[in-house]
Amino acid sequence: MQESLQSAGYQVVPFDEGADMVIVNTCTVTNATDAQSRNLIRRARKLNDACRVVVTGCYAQVDPEALQGLPGVSLVIGNEEKQRLLDYLTEDQETTAVVVSDIRKVEKICLPPLTTFSGRSRAFVQIQNGCDAFCSYCIIPYARGASRSATPDEILQQINGLVASGFQEIVLTGIHIGGYGADLETAMTLNDLVRRIEAETGVHRLRLGSIEPTELTDELLETIASSRVICPHLHIPLQAGNDHVLQRMKRTYSTEFFGHLLERVRASIPDAAICLDVITGFPGESEEEFESAFNFISCLPLTALHVFPYSKRPGTPAASYPGQVTGDVSKARAERLRQLAADKYHSFAIRFIDEELEVVVESGVKEGLLKGVSRNYLDIRFSGSEALSGQCVRVKPVSWQDHSLHATLL
Ligand code: SF4
Repeated sequence: MQESLQSAGYQVVPFDEGADMVIVNTCTVTNATDAQSRNLIRRARKLNDACRVVVTGCYAQVDPEALQGLPGVSLVIGNEEKQRLLDYLTEDQETTAVVVSDIRKVEKICLPPLTTFSGRSRAFVQIQNGCDAFCSYCIIPYARGASRSATPDEILQQINGLVASGFQEIVLTGIHIGGYGADLETAMTLNDLVRRIEAETGVHRLRLGSIEPTELTDELLETIASSRVICPHLHIPLQAGNDHVLQRMKRTYSTEFFGHLLERVRASIPDAAICLDVITGFPGESEEEFESAFNFISCLPLTALHVFPYSKRPGTPAASYPGQVTGDVSKARAERLRQLAADKYHSFAIRFIDEELEVVVESGVKEGLLKGVSRNYLDIRFSGSEALSGQCVRVKPVSWQDHSLHATLL
């Protein structure tokens, strides 16, 4: 959206300057993110009471009526329409315009012609959108529509463009990238796609976004293990470490399956970062269920956990399940898992002290130090010039301080 606005002559200004127009690209994954979006709209109007607010994204897609009546909102457009944002901005209307089509009917995705990612050292390429899994707590299938994939040619072209702009690392993103390619005219898999990217682009580092456990095939693991380009970093949504909770979530695997999968990952890629998503306090999660989940997760060879206390999402089946768990209990369970994850990350990270690693340098300096991210997703701090931002450099970790590895630049 930013690239298309700038190419049409719009100037991007800092939020606090009180812009003439503010575009709020909303998230609706929880009630809390809805509230944050409404808050942002109010803040935009406080900074400039003549400001025209355009709202788009998943909240706009799922509940446009809730946004339409907010002061200052002049346009609400859906996720499909936001790709043609400029077309809707030209109309000067008196009342709030709402343009939100039925996203479940959309069959294709089109990659926008991106060449930059302002302020980012990595570039993101959305290879897929949507989901057909309908997990019982998740609104995404309604907000993003059915699973659909960009064509390999479009993806290769976009990656080559970003590589030519100087990006050292490309991240493949989507909602359900493990299902990539099943809907294409000539069906293909994620494994086929990453092999083509490695063979046909000049990308230096390729990172894969989150992959569902049932879609992480042995073939793909072999490709990652033998690749020069694909980062040894897997992000896998576990969501619950107890079979009864998994069933209530409508997830389609068991803890036994998941445990065996991680054993295979660790055996084929010994230095891989393995990051899992977990939800605590899902409706009906008893003390016993959480304890069994905690014990199961503590035995997994993971390196990081993203833990989310369950948040009721209206419009999903789980929102009306009995046995809703209080926020305090969900948060306390999340805290225990985060502590476990911190210990696991520490044990993993210190294995790399005195080993030479390649990092992509992020922008900005914190407490006089640069931050780089290794292929296997270790955060590494070191002294160096800010001019290194976005570049690939080699470092040697020498110590563990303040929850991260500290290194010398080689
Ligand atoms: S697979 Fe992921 S995106 Fe799809 S419904 Fe389940 S949680 Fe949501």
